Amino acid sequence: MNIQTTVIVAFLLSSLVEYCFHRFYFHYFQKDGFAQKHHRQFSGKTSFEVPDARLQDIMPSYMYLFIKASLYYILSVIWFIDNISQGILFFATTLIYALWTEYIHLHFHKPDGKAIENLRIFKFLKENHRKHHMDNTIYYGIGSHIWDILFRTDKERSA
Ligand SMILES: [Zn+2]
Ligand SMILES: [Zn+2]
Repeated sequence: MNIQTTVIVAFLLSSLVEYCFHRFYFHYFQKDGFAQKHHRQFSGKTSFEVPDARLQDIMPSYMYLFIKASLYYILSVIWFIDNISQGILFFATTLIYALWTEYIHLHFHKPDGKAIENLRIFKFLKENHRKHHMDNTIYYGIGSHIWDILFRTDKERSA
């Protein structure tokens, strides 16, 4: 496996894990918990962005992050078997993606003027997430848009 393939596959798998966790775990199995509270609290014109919001209302628990990271670890073992440095690269890419997702999600809701907030990709993903808070059946992707396109959850449902 070459470097590009490892990074691309790691990106696709970690964004798929993020999408599925969000769509099926947070919106299906976890009926009453962090996610429901978060979606309710940060929904609306004036409440989507709350500069003095509490961290624990935006970030999921460490347990959730740990479970996600162990999933990535299990997946990267496949690359480790093939080649140790490819395995490390795979795992590093998934962790960077997970950090990117948590970081931008935090700044969607709790803007503090960081340079990242001016990036076009940040604004685009933020707008998707804003729509997701208004309608929980669309735009599950936080760190990327790709699985929303493939699973057709990227359109406002009019009918
Ligand atoms: Zn949110
Ligand atoms: Zn959601």
